[in-house]
Amino acid sequence: PSPIHVVGGGLAGSEAAWQIAESGLPVVLHEMRGVRGTDAHKTDGLAELVCSNSFRSDDATSNAVGVLHAEMRLAGSLIMRAADANQVPAGGALAVDREGFSAAVTAAIAAHPLIAVVREEVTGLPPDDWDQAIVATGPLTAPSLAAAIQARTGADQLAFFDAIAPIVHTHSIDMDICWYQSRYDKVGPGGTGKDYINCPMDEAAYNAFIDALVAGDTTGFKEWEGTPYFDGCLPIEVMAERGRETLRHGPMKPMGLTNAHNPSVKPYAVVQLRQDNALGTLYNMVGFQTKLKYGAQAEIFRLIPGLENAEFARLGGLHRNTYINSPVLLDRSLTLKGRPGLRFAGQITGCEGYVESASIGLLAGRFAAAERRGETPSLPPETTAFGALLGHITGGHIVSDDEPGKRSFQPMNVNFGLFPPLEPGALVRPEGLKRFRGKDKALAKKQATAARALADCARWLG
Ligand code: FAD
Repeated sequence: PSPIHVVGGGLAGSEAAWQIAESGLPVVLHEMRGVRGTDAHKTDGLAELVCSNSFRSDDATSNAVGVLHAEMRLAGSLIMRAADANQVPAGGALAVDREGFSAAVTAAIAAHPLIAVVREEVTGLPPDDWDQAIVATGPLTAPSLAAAIQARTGADQLAFFDAIAPIVHTHSIDMDICWYQSRYDKVGPGGTGKDYINCPMDEAAYNAFIDALVAGDTTGFKEWEGTPYFDGCLPIEVMAERGRETLRHGPMKPMGLTNAHNPSVKPYAVVQLRQDNALGTLYNMVGFQTKLKYGAQAEIFRLIPGLENAEFARLGGLHRNTYINSPVLLDRSLTLKGRPGLRFAGQITGCEGYVESASIGLLAGRFAAAERRGETPSLPPETTAFGALLGHITGGHIVSDDEPGKRSFQPMNVNFGLFPPLEPGALVRPEGLKRFRGKDKALAKKQATAARALADCARWLG
């Protein structure tokens, strides 16, 4: 058979190539480093880790990324094999010797009889005569290919950086203080009346909040120096610096909202959170993209009434990142709609992190191999970490209809908020525990979700 082409030999592309080759099919892996570098990579090695050397928690019993590690090992992942073989001590985390890790991946790929590595920059979309191809060129995709993707998908479907607003676990929002309501009670098609959660502020709380924002510790911003902020994407603390009233007339305006707990008192300002996933387990803070340091964010955002005990699925940020609007552009098996045989994988699809990128590469490789054999790709169950992450990328996401044209899809790490809730009755009080709530119950939920994921993954892999 003619080979499957994989563009990009990073975390995702290396894993995709490995999965295809291990299934008995030939692969050509195109990697530009050696010919052309990126702003972050320092070597020519495959699967180079550009920043931290950590794959995060390796706890498969109660941590979502630990579950993803375990699922990848079950699926014969090269990235996990190389990580395990090059582990350095890091408590409960899986950290690796970055050089040893990259060398192990590079050697395994080079030694595989079915993989040919070509060192070249692919400057446009894969040509039509590559009937099966995977684009896994990452957050620093070379400009000519990024331009070609943009020309094909539309300018507003490819982002060059992410301005991320924090995302909060719904269960940690105090609904005795907050209430559900969309501005002017607008309900879009498919709206449930739970599209927005509102947090009210009086004048004193607002002023204290603005003071905290302006005083907050921000991250150095080297990579974006000289880059003008996009309209509508100003960091919240920059807006606060522009004037005490700016936020009250911008993302925190109280217009069209009535406090359900206290209808007679008009809030002075309101923080709105918008439903972030179809399950309703996550809400994002509307307009709160920020470059405050993580510690400062958690501290300052917990000043907001109703968010005192907020647990964040992810904090805000502003990073260089090339990624496509996958929920609109890709089908469930990661194929570009209207272009059969062309898949995307890795961080460019809107997942976040080394492990997540590699796992999406693993899936794309398996899907492409299945299709080449004339089979329909078998999708992982949505109860698995694979399925939960794939769901976030390809469909589980709410596309807001009150702000037409505004991209609302944001990259995310794997987390338990992406998994479907447990079946009723799935949680049993452990013997010897008198009360079963709070931390004990939260842990039991994670454990049951993790166990369900691993069992379903094993079944899926046969
Ligand atoms: P990459 O690993 O970047 O692989 C893409 C490959 O494609 C590269 O080898 C590149 O050279 C090649 N390529 C690009 N364009 C072309 C082309 N046109 N033709 C041929 N080859 C091409 N995640 C974490 O978990 N922890 C971190 O600490 C972390 N730090 C990060 C720091 C920075 C500066 C950036 C940008 C990202 C960071 N990430 C981090 C996010 C992300 O997990 C990594 O970038 C990860 O490597 C993504 O995997 P990938 O396979 O999608 O892309």
